[in-house]
Amino acid sequence: MRIVLLGAPGSGKGTQAQRLQAKYGVPQVSSGDLLRDAVARDTELGRRAKVVMDKGQLVSDDIVLGLIRDRLARPDAANGFILDGFPRNIEQANALSALLAEIGQPVDVVLLLDVRRETLIQRLAGRRTCPKCGTVYNVHALPAGVTQCSKDGETLYQRPDDREDVVRERLEVYAQKTQPLIEHYTKQGLLRRVAAEGTLEEVFERMESAALAKPVPASKVKVSRRAAAASGKVSAKSPARKKARPQRSRIAKRGKARVGATSVRKKSTRVAVRKGRGKLAKKVAKRPARAVRSARRAK
Ligand code: AMP
Repeated sequence: MRIVLLGAPGSGKGTQAQRLQAKYGVPQVSSGDLLRDAVARDTELGRRAKVVMDKGQLVSDDIVLGLIRDRLARPDAANGFILDGFPRNIEQANALSALLAEIGQPVDVVLLLDVRRETLIQRLAGRRTCPKCGTVYNVHALPAGVTQCSKDGETLYQRPDDREDVVRERLEVYAQKTQPLIEHYTKQGLLRRVAAEGTLEEVFERMESAALAKPVPASKVKVSRRAAAASGKVSAKSPARKKARPQRSRIAKRGKARVGATSVRKKSTRVAVRKGRGKLAKKVAKRPARAVRSARRAK
C-alpha cells in the first residue's frame, strides 16, 4: 500500500493516516512531523525550518525532500507508506515520482480529503496535539476539563501554526501551491476524491472504498477555477457571467422541457419524431401542416 494523502490543513490527513497505519501496518510518513521533530531536537535544519513554519509558509523543497528520502529508506517503509503532507507543490511531486521510480515503489493512489473552508478553520482553531505521541484532539470533542493525552498523559498543546492568522496563511498557501496537484494527479489517473466531513469512521470507510475504486478519467473530473488559475491554465478573474438558463421543469423527464415561456421537446424526443419513431411521431404525422394550423387559429 503506497498512498499519498492530499488535502488542506485540517482536512484530517494526519488522523486518518494514523488509522491506516494501525489497520494496515504501513507507516505514516508526515513531512510536518519530520520537520517538527527536527525543530524539537533543535538541529540546524530544525531552526531554519521553524522560522518558515511559524509563518505558515512552505519549507524549502530540498530540506523536505532530504527528510522524506531518509525516512523512506528506513526498513519499515519497504512494504509501503502513507505520505501525509508531502508533496505540497508540483516540484515536490516530480521529485517524489523520480525518487519512487528509483526505489521501485510507485504511488498506488492519491486520496484527496475534501472539506469545506469553514470546517477547516473550526477544526484547526480547536486542534490540540500531544507533544509526545503526536495524537491529535479537538477541544470541541474532548470532555470538559480534559487537557491531557489519553495515551501517555502528556499535556496537550496548540501548535503555533494553528493560530488564526497563521491558519489563514496556510490555507492561502494550500490554494496557491498545493491545489494544482489535484489536476496533476488526476491526469495521471491516481486521484480519488473523498468527502472528508462526518465521523472519523465514516471518512475512513470512504477512504478505504475510494482506494479500491477505479480511477476517474481526467475528462470527467472538474478542476476548480482557483486550482486551474493557480496552475496557470486560466485567468484567476471570475468568468463573465453567463446568461441565466431557465430552469428545466419536471416535464423534461417526460419528454418536454419548459424554456422560458415556451414548451420545447427534449433532443432525444425531437430526434425520435424526426425519424418517425414512437407514439409522438404518429401523432405529429396525423397533424395538419403548421401553415394550416395557424390559418385555423387566425379564423
Ligand atoms: P503539516 O503538519 O503538514 O500541517 O505541516 C506543518 C508545516 O510544516 C507547514 O505549514 C509547512 O510550513 C511545513 N511543511 C510540512 N510539509 C511540508 C512540505 N511538504 N513542504 C514544505 N513545507 C512543509
